[in-house]
Parts: sequence; structure tokens; C-alpha cells
Amino acid sequence: MKIGIFGGTFNPVHFGHLRAAEEVSQTFLDKVVFIPTNITSNKKMTGIVPEHRMKMLNMAIKNNKKFESSDIEIRRGGFSYSYDTVVQLQKIYPSDELYFIAGMDAYLDVKSWKNAEEIFDKINFLVVNRSNKKSGLKNLIKLIQFLPDKLKEGVKLDYGENRLILGNNRFVYFLKITRMDISSTEIRKNFKNNVSNLFLLPNEVINYIIKNKLY
Ligand code: ATP
Ligand code: MG
Repeated sequence: MKIGIFGGTFNPVHFGHLRAAEEVSQTFLDKVVFIPTNITSNKKMTGIVPEHRMKMLNMAIKNNKKFESSDIEIRRGGFSYSYDTVVQLQKIYPSDELYFIAGMDAYLDVKSWKNAEEIFDKINFLVVNRSNKKSGLKNLIKLIQFLPDKLKEGVKLDYGENRLILGNNRFVYFLKITRMDISSTEIRKNFKNNVSNLFLLPNEVINYIIKNKLY
């Protein structure tokens, strides 16, 4: 099976995440596993405990057979590093192909991740556009630019398949998805300012946030 690992803070989950997962699972993957972070080193969590983010996520994905969630980062505790998650998931899914799903904005930071090169040795990447209108080719070139330096040697651009082929025979795919210019940051701001968030995230999640006064 081809399994996508979709990590994020999901603070809160919104239709940008859900639509991205829907499209990659329709065209590419058999299953998407959403993995909320415990603590992300580069983010302020604005007081939202992981359990709330996980509950909202589970509400949002419950009706999609291809979607699952995993609490491995929350159970591991401390800072959440994708490398540790990949190592753990490879043990859980020894005979499946794992793909790391990342929005372009997340991918642009990949060099700074813990053991970045090793992650690219272990699994393939599936990068989706966040909100730009660039052509597929320009996006592939961008994928090369932001690779960890060592991996840039020997990389081939496979335009027909919309992917890079790395020297280690791993792939970095680019998938153009419907642009949804939605972010959790904007949603949190709206809640704070009493501005409507209708149609940006599932109603059940909106109600949960209001009931628990999360933002
Ligand atoms: P924040 O504003 O708090 O950073 P966010 O909306 O960026 O939240 P994250 O939890 O940071 O959401 O994102 C998790 C993953 O989902 C990242 O790989 C990110 O690029 C991707 N992603 C988030 N929003 C979208 C979107 N609207 N379209 C496509 N991918 C998205
Ligand atoms: Mg983000």
C-alpha cells in the first residue's frame, strides 16, 4: 500500500488540509495518516493542548475511509521531529511504501529539519502547492533549490511524472491540487476577532472550538 504521512499542528484542522489529503488520496495514495505534533519547535501553540487538536482532527476525518489519525507524536511527548516519526512508522508499516506529504511552505524549511538527509533516504516526498499559481516545471525547480545540499548532486528532473529522482533512487513528487488559501493562523485570528469562519473548516469543529473557548 501507498501510505501518506500528513504531519502538522492542525491548530485547528481546516478544509485546506482536508482537500489536500482528499486529492492526494484520490490520485496517488491508498491511505493518509494525519499526525498532529506534540510540540513543534518553531511554533507557539497558543495554549491549545494536543488532545484538543487531535479531537478536532478526528471529527473532521471520521467519514473518510482513506483517512486515519495517529497519536504517535503526542504519545512520544516533547518536541516532534518528523525523522523520529518516519523511523517509528517504518516499523509499524514494514511492507508499505511511505510518502511524506508536505505543503510547499513546509517543504521550503525541510533543510532545517532534524536528520533531513536521512529522511529523504528513508521515504519519498509528496509536495502539494499551498497557494501559488506557478507552473509544474517551476515548482519542480523549486523542489530542487530547497533540497538539503548533499542531495542536490545527482538529482534528475522527471517532468513527465512530475517528480525529482534523487541519487538514492527516492522520489520527490509535486502534485498540483486545488488552491485553498486557508490557514489555521487566519482561522485563529477570526475566532479572536469574532469574525465568521463558516466554510473554512467543518461545522462540527467550529462548534467544538466555540464550546471549549479554544482561541
Ligand atoms: P498555521 O497557520 O498555524 O501554520 P497551517 O494552516 O499552515 O497552520 P499546518 O498545521 O501548519 O497548517 O500545516 C500542516 C501541513 O498542511 C503542512 O504541510 C502545510 O503546508 C499543509 N497545509 C496547510 N494548509 C494548507 C492548504 N490550505 N493547502 C495545502 N496544504 C496546506
Ligand atoms: Mg503552517
